[in-house]
Amino acid sequence: MPLSNRKSKIASFLLLAALALLALMPLFFAGGAEGKNLEAVVTVDGEIIRRVPLARESDEIFTVATPHGENRIAVSGGRIRVEDADCPAKICVKSGAISEIGEVIACLPHKLLIEIREIK
Ligand SMILES: [Zn+2]
Repeated sequence: MPLSNRKSKIASFLLLAALALLALMPLFFAGGAEGKNLEAVVTVDGEIIRRVPLARESDEIFTVATPHGENRIAVSGGRIRVEDADCPAKICVKSGAISEIGEVIACLPHKLLIEIREIK
């Protein structure tokens, strides 16, 4: 086999391999995010009150009574949000739902914090 022919075969193989890798890349990243086990950590005044696994099938509503007021928290479809609260501005309610690592909902008047973490 002539050398040039062989070289082009190797080149086209490498090209195919690179293309295959690129094609698989989005799957890999999506899979990585999906496969992570997340939990929402609820703290009041720096103390952990509750940890809720944020699995897709989690479906739960609970009320956190802080010394400063109450927050009703809803978990569904891998997301968590403050559904209702008796704080004045209701910024925590307006924050909406969170579902990604590092996202936070804060209710400053109640010193309540909901943070999403990866379960290790
Ligand atoms: Zn609030």
